[in-house]
Amino acid sequence: MKNILFVASECVPFVKTGGLADVVGTLPKKFDRSEYDCRVIIPNYRCIPDEYRNNFKYIHHFYMDMGQRFSSVHVGIMEYELDGIKFYFVDNLFYFGGSSPYADTRFDIEKFIYFSKAVMAILPVINFHPDIIHCHDWQAGLVPVYLHTLYRDNAFFNGTKTIFTIHNLRFQGIWDIKTIRSLSGLPDWVFTPDKLEYHEDANMLKGGLVYADYITTVSDTYAGEIQSAYYGEGLDGLLRARNQSLCGIVNGIDYDAYNPETDGLIAKKYNSRSFKKGKAENKRALQEQLGLPVDNGKFVISIISRLTSQKGLDLVRYALDRILDDNTQLIVLGTGDGQYENLFREYAWRLNNKVSANIYFNEELAHRIYAGSDAVLVPSLFEPCGLTQLIGLRYGSVPIVRETGGLRDTVAPYNEYDGTGIGFSFANYNGDELLNTINYAKHIFFDCPKEWEQMVSRGMKTDYSWVNSARRYEDLYDRISN
Ligand code: ADP
Repeated sequence: MKNILFVASECVPFVKTGGLADVVGTLPKKFDRSEYDCRVIIPNYRCIPDEYRNNFKYIHHFYMDMGQRFSSVHVGIMEYELDGIKFYFVDNLFYFGGSSPYADTRFDIEKFIYFSKAVMAILPVINFHPDIIHCHDWQAGLVPVYLHTLYRDNAFFNGTKTIFTIHNLRFQGIWDIKTIRSLSGLPDWVFTPDKLEYHEDANMLKGGLVYADYITTVSDTYAGEIQSAYYGEGLDGLLRARNQSLCGIVNGIDYDAYNPETDGLIAKKYNSRSFKKGKAENKRALQEQLGLPVDNGKFVISIISRLTSQKGLDLVRYALDRILDDNTQLIVLGTGDGQYENLFREYAWRLNNKVSANIYFNEELAHRIYAGSDAVLVPSLFEPCGLTQLIGLRYGSVPIVRETGGLRDTVAPYNEYDGTGIGFSFANYNGDELLNTINYAKHIFFDCPKEWEQMVSRGMKTDYSWVNSARRYEDLYDRISN
């Protein structure tokens, strides 16, 4: 039996701002339970719903030093079991009492230094000896650094190896060296350019990438892209240097949570045989719910996304007037940068018969949109894996994507000559290419309905469950822990 510990800042069903939470909450369930005891540790945020928090079991607490700022900080350990997986929660109301997991950058830096440090201190207390600590994104970046410095001679961690998974290279956890050194208690010698130093600041993600035994990211294409200057976010040199310990393993989605055949959140359940009627009913219910003209003949495109520049929204803005012809409706569900939130609000106000802007986070509405749309639009500038196109495929909403990262690896483009492909894609980050691709999708939708239906059916049948990728992680665990 191998012990695996996931360290991350979010995890479904407790707290979610993006795809990271889906992966951290789903993947542990997909390992062979007789071989791998995979547990998860995240912060005990005050914003986790009470239905869970009230049932967390208190395990223990102790006090920990946080550099010059505080000499004795509370570390509580809570536990909760769900679907046979043990979840641990680091409890500290000062750090995790906010209304969302992330807020002010300076405070986030301190919060996740505390979190990483607490995780290392907690493991001996709960007596869970990990063969592998699997760290996710910059919030867990210091864990491998602690293991190789302050915990180097600690017998409890004998044989422990670390894997670092990059879900998004853009977020790195950068602050000045003095602050990070003081809060983390890490020795001076890790703040050099070959380790944590980054343009004279300290970079927590970089620490994870330098010290982890192995690095993965969430698609093959992104694994290659991040070794280039364009996608490397300033760390491409380091990633090239670590090329022999780096690979891409594509994400899956939770086929139980996202299943149009059993989904209790949608208006009408359906499968890959009954989708034509099923989707039409869901489209009608969705149009009604959102106050759009109820018309099965409209081409309904949706965007379910964090509204940031990463997601290609500048291209959407450029082409939007021309995307919105009289046969098209656009549904947006997302939050993020004010400029994009207001862009969609303004269009919804001006063209309320064509655009519905839902500027909030709502899991239930997300399901209803996946079920009721004809297409999901994901024209990202970069996309490590992307889950919305996978969920769209599962619900028979055809993805229209830019060929980058995981979008390129998961959406085989439609080929009208041999009748293959499950979506539409374009190569360059260019608004006219986006528009041409959407127009081509519309042409197939309106003029070749049989072909469209076959494409929907192919997409719904493509397997993007976790089965294959979970095996690849297991192989990796075996390879590096022996
Ligand atoms: P990222 O992790 O970059 O945000 P992904 O495509 O990997 O993007 O994952 C996004 C996840 O978050 C999907 O499960 C998507 O359905 C969900 N999501 C994004 N925005 C919202 C929202 N406003 N309401 C509900 N779900 C959302």
